[in-house]
Amino acid sequence: MKFSESTNRKLLFRESNKKVSYSKKTLKEMPQLKIQCGKYGGLPFNYLMTDVVSGCLSVTRMCYGNCSAFEYWTDSGYDFGRRRVNILDLELFDESVRQLPADQKWLRQGWASDCSLSNESWELVALLAERLNQFGISLLIITKIWCYPSITVLKRLAKSKAEIRVSVSAFDSDKEIKKRLRLLEEYRDLCGISVMYIMSCIYDDNALNKNQDYLVHWTTNNDFIGAEHPLRLSFDNYALSVVSKNGFWHEKFPDQYWFGRILHNVPNFALPPPTCLTPSYSLNSRFFSELEHSSLKTYGNLPTFEDLKNNVKNHLIYSHATYNISKTQYDE
Ligand code: SF4
Repeated sequence: MKFSESTNRKLLFRESNKKVSYSKKTLKEMPQLKIQCGKYGGLPFNYLMTDVVSGCLSVTRMCYGNCSAFEYWTDSGYDFGRRRVNILDLELFDESVRQLPADQKWLRQGWASDCSLSNESWELVALLAERLNQFGISLLIITKIWCYPSITVLKRLAKSKAEIRVSVSAFDSDKEIKKRLRLLEEYRDLCGISVMYIMSCIYDDNALNKNQDYLVHWTTNNDFIGAEHPLRLSFDNYALSVVSKNGFWHEKFPDQYWFGRILHNVPNFALPPPTCLTPSYSLNSRFFSELEHSSLKTYGNLPTFEDLKNNVKNHLIYSHATYNISKTQYDE
């Protein structure tokens, strides 16, 4: 089985991204945020930390043809592609950590960007992981590995017990997949916790379904721990032309099309997205075969494709936040 790249996919997203029209001239450079944690630090949940970078990919490159962080910042008058590394004031950061509930034992690094955008952002993440480790808190990083981190950074992250979830999908290019799978292996070899994070979907396209199968098999064959996040595509996304017509419009985001969870029968995909993790979450193994399954929580109420077909209503799935970055976090 092989992962295959199709130029048509790139064209699909290029078309989707092209339709986002705005005048760059009227948009401001992204603001620099002060890096803090939890609700005390202005985040909507205690398990969240400010991104190390403000902004991410430019409009012509944004993922899957729709990125809600891009939409949020563009609507707020900022140029998402003119990104900036955020500000670390250790006194402010430490105080926000001290204000976390005592049972919060992990923090997600960011929620509106990707920490892998430069060597500088990786260095900052390693520093934060080490700092949190001193408080007995581990970092959970979700990344598409735009820039590959140095071995030194990976070693520092592994030593600080940071979990790296590498976000992949059937739409990824061959080059991207090679880099992302390499990171999963390399980080685990360095004693880090590597998790395969598949953005899942049901496609109406053989090559894409085969790519997704390839990623699932790669995970199981190599004894990796996996997690699934159902992909959501906006109503005007050209990529809708290659997904199955049996999907559903999301209840909370009615302009977004999805399929719920489809990998629930694959044992390796045992981890839920961060929204469903308990404050005390921690992984006791780097290998799926050695995981103490009793310690794992389930996917909460994130519905399966069958649930959606059977119209099972489960409103906890909508507990994830809508972007709203507190103005107290940055100076204009
Ligand atoms: S990496 Fe994340 S934040 Fe950046 S463009 Fe892609 S979806 Fe948006």
